[in-house]
Amino acid sequence: MGRSNVGKSSLVNALVRRDVARTSAKPGKTRLVNLYLVEPAGSAPFYLADLPGYGHAGGGMQAAREFDRLTGEYFRDRGSGIGDQGSGAGRRGRRWIAGVVLAVDARHPGLDHDLSAFRWLRAQPAPVALVATKVDKLKQAGRAHSDRQMETSFGVAALAVSAVTGEGLDQLWRILLTWIRRP
Ligand code: GDP
Repeated sequence: MGRSNVGKSSLVNALVRRDVARTSAKPGKTRLVNLYLVEPAGSAPFYLADLPGYGHAGGGMQAAREFDRLTGEYFRDRGSGIGDQGSGAGRRGRRWIAGVVLAVDARHPGLDHDLSAFRWLRAQPAPVALVATKVDKLKQAGRAHSDRQMETSFGVAALAVSAVTGEGLDQLWRILLTWIRRP
């Protein structure tokens, strides 16, 4: 999840090392939840969900409402899996949210939209990982500044990732695998 154009689709592609998600130079194009079934070797299969981006310029109130509706429904219709185990309608029977990756542009730490998305997500039962995208676009000093700002704004450190250089993707994979193995 993240702002439109932050690099969500590129991150999906980089994670699975395939071009499956449509990337776009034009912000705000994806208005659907795109699901990708991932079957990692030696691990349970899971879906990567590329949620619609929020907060693109020119989207207006209508787009904002549509985003809230889609995202709200998506989270409402799926539990976190916590407490579902052992019950008849358990995790096996339906899709549940194992965790949420919030993607934030490393060059724009602490935007209002991102902060409110983070706050909203933290109030949901699923675990949240904050990632800073496109770090390849920053030089050393810019990165240090971005790291500090992320931590100050969000209260947690962001995992720096790049779909171009592959930086941070192993760590992100480890987080995803921890989530799907969660008891
Ligand atoms: P989405 O709207 O969040 O799915 O964003 P996209 O994945 O479509 O990416 C938006 C634009 O940012 C595209 O032009 C991508 O090529 C570019 N982009 C995405 N990730 C990276 C990255 O890690 N590094 C760089 N340099 N560009 C990126």
